[in-house]
Amino acid sequence: MPIQRNPTRAVRVGSVTIGGGNPIVVQSMCATKTTDVEATVAQIEALAAAGAGVVRIAVDSRHDAEALAAIRERTRANLSVDLQENYRLAADVAPWVDKIRYNPGHLYHHESDRPWQEKVRLIVDAAARHDCAIRVGINCGSVDPAMREKFDPADSVGPMLVSALDHCGFLDLIGFRRYCVSLKDSDPAKVVDANRRFAQARPDVPLHLGVTEAGMPPEGILKTRMALGPLLAEGIGDTLRVSLTVPNSRKHEEVEAGRQLLADVAAGNLGDVDAMSAASLKRGLNIISCPSCSRVENEAFIDLAGRIREMTRYAAAYPITIAVMGCRVNGPGETDDADLGVWCGPGQVYLKRGGESLGAFSYEEILPRLREEIDRLIEKV
Ligand code: SF4
Repeated sequence: MPIQRNPTRAVRVGSVTIGGGNPIVVQSMCATKTTDVEATVAQIEALAAAGAGVVRIAVDSRHDAEALAAIRERTRANLSVDLQENYRLAADVAPWVDKIRYNPGHLYHHESDRPWQEKVRLIVDAAARHDCAIRVGINCGSVDPAMREKFDPADSVGPMLVSALDHCGFLDLIGFRRYCVSLKDSDPAKVVDANRRFAQARPDVPLHLGVTEAGMPPEGILKTRMALGPLLAEGIGDTLRVSLTVPNSRKHEEVEAGRQLLADVAAGNLGDVDAMSAASLKRGLNIISCPSCSRVENEAFIDLAGRIREMTRYAAAYPITIAVMGCRVNGPGETDDADLGVWCGPGQVYLKRGGESLGAFSYEEILPRLREEIDRLIEKV
């Protein structure tokens, strides 16, 4: 039986339309340096050829923004740009893309005494002038601290949800309706909870689904299926991304996993296998790792994530969460909820246990040092 989709409004992104009953759009993101125009265009084309309806690119600097003009000249793919903390670049990037993603939790980084509403207005003005849609992309690991303070620390979904609703309310108020929302977490259960609650509150707003930092395949695919499968089967979700920690040459696997998920949901093919996977993932060691993006400071990150997975197999039965991130900007925050956090700089890898920093180590030293910490945690279990 066809799935009854939520009655979201239609949001056009270049040549595709998200929501409004249109086919669910699979997205992906470039992990190349945005200033490396040739590599970025090649990755965009590979992702589009695999079936990505929209390809996202991170913009961190004016140089990245300038590179977008050259990228736009060389591809017809629908492009989304991730502003990271740099909302002030909105006007520079909007002429070259079809969608702008901003993270409400990143708006406070610059001009902290300026109200977020003014910053959103800047983004909206640029989007409206240049025929762009907007995604309000909420991420559990980077919720605005002012919003987080209003909630019990154990409630991580509440701040995400209220932040999303506040931003939707503001966009509606200023008359900008060409937007969608995402609420992502690395915990599939929280993704389900946040998106169900949002869809109930705002059934009209198209949702972009995803599990952030899902990790390496096959676990990253399973985590994503555990979250997105039930949501899609309930009619929630208009576009999605499967975030995977894979080398650039395998980035197309994100798109393939997304398309397979949609096919399986349509065929009612999810149940037993994923339920068993859910149970096993919940009990044992959990490795969270980011999908990498243009911010990765050392390409050894992907290899390191794989080596950590191999090294930690002996601890598979223990309920320990290890977060592995590709950069120093988001690494410290995105590892906050893990038992052990690792994030990569150009020449060193940083380690922390809970909220406590344990220092920086070379790419060779980090594995034995991490193992020591795992052994300590195992002793306490
Ligand atoms: S943690 Fe850093 S490198 Fe990884 S996806 Fe996020 S911004 Fe990109």
